[in-house]
Amino acid sequence: MATNSQRVAVVRTGDDLAGAARRAIELSGGMAAILDGRRVAVLKPNFVAGRPGRTGATTSLDLIAAVAEIVREAGAAPVLCESPGTEFDLEETYAILGIDDFCRRHGIGLVRDVGEWIEVRPKGARRLRRFRVPAPVAEACLINLPVLKTHVVSGMSVAMKNLMGLLPREDRRTMHTFGIHQSIVDLNLGLKPDLSLVDGSVGQDGEGPLYGRPANLGVLVAGRDSLAVDVVCCRLCDVDPKAVRHLDLALSQMGPRFPEVVGESAAPVERFTLPKVSPLYRFVFWLMYPLDYPFRWLTGSHLCAALYKTGLVGTRPKIIESACTRCGDCVTACPLPNVIDLTTLRVDPRTCARCLLCVEACPENAIIVKGMSGSGEAPGSLPRLNGVDAGGQG
Ligand code: SF4
Ligand code: SF4
Repeated sequence: MATNSQRVAVVRTGDDLAGAARRAIELSGGMAAILDGRRVAVLKPNFVAGRPGRTGATTSLDLIAAVAEIVREAGAAPVLCESPGTEFDLEETYAILGIDDFCRRHGIGLVRDVGEWIEVRPKGARRLRRFRVPAPVAEACLINLPVLKTHVVSGMSVAMKNLMGLLPREDRRTMHTFGIHQSIVDLNLGLKPDLSLVDGSVGQDGEGPLYGRPANLGVLVAGRDSLAVDVVCCRLCDVDPKAVRHLDLALSQMGPRFPEVVGESAAPVERFTLPKVSPLYRFVFWLMYPLDYPFRWLTGSHLCAALYKTGLVGTRPKIIESACTRCGDCVTACPLPNVIDLTTLRVDPRTCARCLLCVEACPENAIIVKGMSGSGEAPGSLPRLNGVDAGGQG
C-alpha cells in the first residue's frame, strides 16, 4: 500500500496490544514496505530508567515483542538498541527491566556494547552539527518505539526526542549544553526512522518522563514522519504542538505538517497536563552538563551520575522507621542486590537505581518518595514526604 509520508495511524489498544500494533503497522504501509528489502530492523524503545512499562515511563515489552514478531514474519531480524538517561546505569536498567531474558525469549538481538560508531553531520543543523550513532543503525531499518509522555525539560517526549537514546553519552551532553530544543531538531535532520510507533497504551502526563502520572491513554500512534507523528500525539492530548519548544522549532525549520490521520477515532484525553518546572530547577539541571566536561576530565566519572549517587538529589525512596514493620517485602521487591539494609532501614544511594518498586511493594506505606522537580506534585499516586517535593527529572 502506498502511503502519504504524513499519514499517521491512530489505533486503540483495548486489551490486545499485539493486535493493535499489527493494525497500526498495516495502516502505515505494512512491514514489507517499511523494511524496503533490509534484513535487519533496529528497534529503538524508550528505556529511560528501570521503571516498568505499566508506569508509562518505558515502552511496553509486550509491544516490542509484537513488533519483533511482525519484523520476523516479514523476513528480517529484530535487534534492540537503547541506552538509559544519562544519570542511570545501563546494566542496572536492563537488570530491572529484565531485558536480557526478554530478548532471549523473543529471539531479539541486542546491541549491548557498541563497538563501532558512525558519525552523522546533519545538513542545516544549528547546534548539534555532528553526532554518532551505533554502526548497525546506519544500515538497518530503524523502528522508533517511543512512549507518549511529558518531559520536565523538553515538555513532551515522543518520537523526535526518543532518538536521543541512540547517541553516546558525550553527544547527549552536547545536546543539553548547547540547547536541547534546537539539538532535538538537528538530531532529527540527520536521523529519520523508517517508522515511529508510539506507545500510548499507558503514557505519562504531569512530571514525566519518569515519575509522572500514568495517563492510561489506550492508543498507539504510528507514522513514517516523526514530526507529523508528534503533532498528532500532541493533539490527542490536547497539547498545542507550538507550546512544545522543539516541535515549534521543527515546524518552522522542517516545514509545517498537515497529517492525514487514519485508523480509529480517539477522543482527546480529558486531563493531560504538561510539567510545571521552576526556572531554577531548569537552570540547575542544565548546569550539570557544562560542568560535566571538567568533572569528567578530573575524576573520570560523569557529574550527573555521581550527584545522584550521593543521595542528596533526585527522586528516591526513604523508609520511615516508625511505620516500618521490617517485613522485608521491599528487599524482596528490589531487583538489585545490596540496596536496602533492614537493620538500619537505610536505602544505599550508591546502589539504588530509583525504580520505586519498593514503594509499590510496601504493605505499610512506610516508604516515601523524596526529590525535587520544582512541581510539588507526587509521582503517580505514590506517598510524598511533607514539605519535600517529589518528582525529579530522572
Ligand atoms: S516493605 Fe515496608 S514495612 Fe516492610 S520492611 Fe520494607 S519498608 Fe518496612
Ligand atoms: S531500593 Fe527501591 S528504588 Fe532503589 S533499586 Fe531497590 S526497589 Fe528500586
